[in-house]
Amino acid sequence: MFDVGGLTAVITGGGGVLCSGIAEHLAAGGMAVAVLDLDRNAAQRVADGIRRAGGRAIAVEADVLDRESVQAACEACIRQLGRVDCLINGAGGNHPSATTGPDRKFFDLPIDAFRKVMDLNIIGTVLPSMVFGRAMAERGEGVILNIASMNAFRPLTRIAAYSAAKAGVKNFTEWLAVHMAQEYSPNIRVNAVAPGFMLTQQNRFLLTDEKTGELTPRGRSIIAHTPMRRFGNADDLYGTVTWLLSPASKFVTGITVPVDGGFSAFGGV
Ligand code: NAD
Repeated sequence: MFDVGGLTAVITGGGGVLCSGIAEHLAAGGMAVAVLDLDRNAAQRVADGIRRAGGRAIAVEADVLDRESVQAACEACIRQLGRVDCLINGAGGNHPSATTGPDRKFFDLPIDAFRKVMDLNIIGTVLPSMVFGRAMAERGEGVILNIASMNAFRPLTRIAAYSAAKAGVKNFTEWLAVHMAQEYSPNIRVNAVAPGFMLTQQNRFLLTDEKTGELTPRGRSIIAHTPMRRFGNADDLYGTVTWLLSPASKFVTGITVPVDGGFSAFGGV
């Protein structure tokens, strides 16, 4: 029941750290994957690697914030893969310019930076869900998997835009799950994973010191609040992602699953 062999998936942000690993894992399980990314070279590298390993993958350059671009990507995916069974909305992230700090007060944050983070995480999830979701509604089946974050449950300090946006992703996951099941088909499921703290490019500047590589006070605080006492790795997500895409979760929709080493369960005492 956890078998995803023969299914197809589009993975936005598939050229990035977490989603490239997810794409490779799903392809190794027999899924045909479309690696969709704004960064054409990154998408191509991931797709080439999957093909070299014997899997099925295509690279698709698209901007998740541009409806025409996503529409063209959807048509290319259906043309080349036959159909899209699963959509993973992985494109997202924070940006230093929308992050408060000793030299960047909340009151002075450039609103364009704030808006960009909101857009990438919210609109970048909504638009592909509209475009690929329409094709799923027409077929009466499909799975959408969003990528939320720890701050979807409770905001984290310093990253107001990213926290609000990921809380929005969780809320939208619930909304779309209900909408798809009620209006189109109970066989269209919408869920999310909320990764805990994975040390990647987007948060490295917050968690480790640029010069020494030592943990910052924030990095130390995270480890202290993670009962499993470590940062996560991309492969920590694979089992939950496979479960949520496969028939093993066929009665599961509208949930956001923390994959966080216990961070969200721990009260700190
Ligand atoms: P990443 O920065 O490595 O990858 C993001 C990818 O999205 C990049 O390849 C980038 O080119 C692509 N992208 C950016 N804007 C795009 C656009 N407009 N259209 C299409 N593609 C675009 O990030 P990551 O760390 O792998 O994170 C992946 C997802 O997981 C994000 O949604 C992120 O918010 C979430 N997340 C990450 C962590 C973590 O600790 N790294 C924790 C929780 C949630």
